Amino acid sequence: MKLLVTGGAGYIGSIVARLLIETGHEVVVFDNLERGHREAVPRQAQLILGDLRNPEDPRRALDGGGFGGVLHFAALALVGESVEHPGRYYRTNVAGTLNLLEAMVAGGVPRLVFSSTCAVYGQPDEVPIAETAPPRPQNAYGASKLAADHLIGDFCAAHQLAAVSLRYFNVAGAHGEAGEDHEPETHLIPNILKVALGASASVQIFGTDYPTDDGTAVRDYIHIDDLAAAHLLALEHARAGEHLILNLGNGNGFSVREVIEVARRVTGEPIPAREAPRRPGDPPRLVAASDRIRAALGWVAQKPELETMIADAWAFAQAHPHGYSRSDSAASA
Ligand code: UDP
Repeated sequence: MKLLVTGGAGYIGSIVARLLIETGHEVVVFDNLERGHREAVPRQAQLILGDLRNPEDPRRALDGGGFGGVLHFAALALVGESVEHPGRYYRTNVAGTLNLLEAMVAGGVPRLVFSSTCAVYGQPDEVPIAETAPPRPQNAYGASKLAADHLIGDFCAAHQLAAVSLRYFNVAGAHGEAGEDHEPETHLIPNILKVALGASASVQIFGTDYPTDDGTAVRDYIHIDDLAAAHLLALEHARAGEHLILNLGNGNGFSVREVIEVARRVTGEPIPAREAPRRPGDPPRLVAASDRIRAALGWVAQKPELETMIADAWAFAQAHPHGYSRSDSAASA
């Protein structure tokens, strides 16, 4: 199938694009390279430079191209930044998704897999979090992704679009030569590995007074390969006129201190940590109930161990100590 991958120069989009190519699909990447890396785009994919905030860009990309579907990753995805700059988040994540949906309808593109997030739930009363939990986002990032989910639902009903929203929990690990490289880096595991590499002196623990066993925030980490595999299944299972919403996590929670401890074991480095105040917008505990995705797609995690995720991220970090374009070995896989 010919597929458009928006955000295909980013961490998750570029790895899903690889998996799609490996399974015989034709991939066109659509990215503005604002946060993504040209080097991350798989060699076999065509790259269209475009911006979803300009309605003509997705329209031109999809018009008459014979696309069977879109995988939509292009978004802003930092909780802290969204609290400071909500306008950016609504413009890119909501207006951008609306422009994409309208272009899909105009171009007759029947399927969508959307990169949604557990941040739509805020801090629900019950953990593990099921899809039936009332969405109460705690920051503009989660609110903007929830608004995009609402748009998608309405477009499915009105235009017979087939869509699956995957609500990711915390993604980690690497896929061979492709991995996580953000500037600035805000995510826990890459920041821990920067300390292991000697690129920063210590990792900060944001918040030690959460109502959790060790006082630090708990997250559900999923390997990027398992996450990517769910997108292929979602594409196969999407049905016209239906919007399926599925949580995508392993169902195991790890605290910030536990993640640092595992990283110390995996890397053999001491990784000094220092305690810092909570980061605005961060809920205490996010762990997925993954029953629905298992039943709906037959998805099963192949790499559920945090050790594997950190070991793969560590191999990528060592091969690319300064990131993609800032590295000598910046070839795309
Ligand atoms: N975190 C931390 N130090 C860091 C980066 C993150 O303590 O340098 C915490 C963060 O406050 C959150 C958890 O680690 O509780 C996971 O954060 P991340 O940014 O990786 O993902 P998020 O859950 O925000 O999507």
